[in-house]
Order: sequence, then C-alpha cells, then structure tokens
Amino acid sequence: MKNVDYIIVGDGYAALFFAHQLIKNKKSFYLFSEGKRSASFVSAGIINPAVLKRFTTFWLAQEQINALKITLSEIEVYTHKNYLIEKPILRVFHDEKEKELWLKKSNEISFLSKDFLRVNSVKNPFECGLVNQSARLNVRDFFTDLINYLEQNDHLIKEKFNYNMINTEKSIYKDIQFKSIIFAEGMGVKDNPFFSDIPVNPNKGHHLEVRLSEKIEEDFTIKKKHFIFPLIDNTYYYGGTYDRDQIHHKIDDSAVEKLTNALSEFYPNDFDVINVKFGFRPTVKDRRPIIGNHSRYKNFYVFNGLGARGILNGNYFAINLYQHLETGEEIHPEVNLKRFQ
Ligand SMILES: Cc1cc2nc3c(=O)[nH]c(=O)nc-3n(C[C@H](O)[C@H](O)[C@H](O)COP(=O)(O)OP(=O)(O)OC[C@H]3O[C@@H](n4cnc5c(N)ncnc54)[C@H](O)[C@@H]3O)c2cc1C
Repeated sequence: MKNVDYIIVGDGYAALFFAHQLIKNKKSFYLFSEGKRSASFVSAGIINPAVLKRFTTFWLAQEQINALKITLSEIEVYTHKNYLIEKPILRVFHDEKEKELWLKKSNEISFLSKDFLRVNSVKNPFECGLVNQSARLNVRDFFTDLINYLEQNDHLIKEKFNYNMINTEKSIYKDIQFKSIIFAEGMGVKDNPFFSDIPVNPNKGHHLEVRLSEKIEEDFTIKKKHFIFPLIDNTYYYGGTYDRDQIHHKIDDSAVEKLTNALSEFYPNDFDVINVKFGFRPTVKDRRPIIGNHSRYKNFYVFNGLGARGILNGNYFAINLYQHLETGEEIHPEVNLKRFQ
C-alpha cells in the first residue's frame, strides 16, 4: 500500500495550482489526469484585473495579481521557466462616450491607465485604453512543463479516476491510502458521485488560431469584441465566445462564424483560420468559485467554479484551500460550498 497526504483529481488550473502548494510544502501526493485537455488548455491565458465591459475592477484583483506573481516565481524555481508574459491588454474604444467613461472611472480604478494608445494594423479610430498590471500566461508551456515535472517526480497518474474504486470509510483508492482528496475536475464534476450536485454550469467557449496576412506590430493583447494576441510563427489567438446553451462536445459553426465576422470587422486584411478549439468554463451564478468538503466524508474536498478567471481564481483559492487544510484557515465565506446549503 502506498501512503500519501493528498490525491488530486484533475489537471487544469485548479488542480495544478493546488499541486504547486503541495510541491512547495513538500507534501506527498498523486494527481490523476485523464489526458482530455479541457477548459484550461484552451484558455487564452489572460490575466486581467479589470472588467472590460463596465470598466470596473475584478473581485480581490490586487490581492489575486500579487499572489499569482509570487506563485509563478516559485514555480520558476523548479521548472526554470518564466510563464508570465508582461504584455498588457489594450481595450479598443467603440466611441468617444466609452473613452470618456474610462477616463472618469480611471480616477477611482488604478488598473485603468489614463494614457491612450493607437495600434497599427487594426481598426481603432477612438484609440485604446491600457489595463495596468494585466498580462498573459504562456499557457502551453505552463501545462507542458508542470505535467512533465509531475511525471518526472512520480506524482502523475495518467488515468481517469474511477469513483467506484474509492473505499470511502478507509480513505483508500486502489492501493493508495490518502489523508485528503481534492476533486478539481472542472465540468467533469458532473460525473463525481460525491459532488455532482454542486451548482456549476458549463459556459462553452471557442477560440480560433488564425494566420494574419499583415502582422499586428505590437504584441499587446488587444480586445474589441474578443481578444487577439500573437502565438508563434505569425499565428494569433482570437477568442473566446460565451455560450450557455450549446453543451455538446463538437465545434459550433455559429461560434466560428461569430468569431470570423468579428475579426473581419476589426482587422482590415486577409486572414486564414488554421484551428478552432473549445472548452467548457465551470461557472457559478454568483461568479464565485466553490470550495468545501463533503457532508459525510470530511476529507473529500471540491475545488471548482473558477469561471472565466481560471488563472487568478485558481491560484488564489488553491492557497486558501491549502491553508485551510493544513492550518485551519477559514475558507473565504464567498467561495465556501456552505453558502448553498
Ligand atoms: C475559450 C476559453 C478561454 C478562456 N480564457 C481564459 C483566460 O484568458 N484567462 C483565465 O483566467 N481563464 C480563462 N478561461 C477560463 C478557464 O479556462 C477556466 O476557469 C479553467 O480552465 C477552469 O479550470 P479547472 O481546473 O477548474 O477545470 P478544467 O480546466 O476543465 O480542468 C479539469 C480537468 O480535470 C480532468 N478530469 C475530469 N474528471 C477527471 C477524472 N475522473 N479523472 C482524471 N481527470 C479528470 C479533465 O480532463 C480536465 O482536464 C477560458 C476558458 C475558455 C473555454
């Protein structure tokens, strides 16, 4: 029998940021990855402290940004790579009125810069507002390197976790005895008999990978209807859409059309769509993550509901969950599963 402190089920932002806490604190654990590569792997990687529709600020934005920077520098120590791309978001203004509103809001919200910019190669007649402290995560390398690190250090089990194989009374899964188990399966939680009833809902998002005929000069993240930023070899990420109704596991032509139309309106030159990807954001009505334990199996925890902010929420609340488990720190009341009971 193997003995570990933790089992983690899942391999997205929730699972990997929690795994980092365990690595940092030298805890023993196994992480189960079914290799499906869902929402986190298709995410844009945008780290955004502002709400770009209303020009307000994201919940606990400064605390979350600060915590993320610390975590990424800690991860860099063992993967030897920096995943933070410090290129800010530029929000393209639709008209003068929006620009005035931004300027007014920038008096209270430090994330909204008072300096306006104009970008070449895209239509931005009313200029763009820059979001201070926004950045991007190098999503592909982050997941590749962390999964490799877990594999090399004997933490990774590449298989679908089978819920029927848990001995709930003895806290044993197959030949693994664990102290606590963290379920971080994103929308996969619907197959989890212990937590299938938590109120997370899928919000399907598509993005395109496009090749532009004319390069966009600056490598900022530019946002009009959707985000665009450079990947590699003159390809760009463009997305993502939001759709609560289409939940089948196939590409929706309507989402692709929406994206190509929006890009044509905004980018005046030719482009080719070279790839389409989609995933399901685990969203919660009150826009807060969900963390808590099972009413009967007290060492069974769920970590879910990261919504559209998987990176910031994932890291910040992985720390809160870890501290709760190891030092008894209170789970933030706004994310506590108990709010639904
Ligand atoms: C198009 C799009 C763009 C986005 N862009 C951004 C962005 O720019 N910035 C941002 O912060 N957020 C973004 N998000 C949101 C972010 O992706 C989600 O909040 C985040 O991915 C949720 O992470 P998670 O770990 O909870 O779930 P997931 O990423 O879905 O990961 C769960 C994983 O668990 C695995 N799993 C499930 N069941 C089992 C099992 N039984 N055994 C083993 N493994 C299992 C699944 O295969 C899956 O890989 C975007 C989302 C989409 C769809």
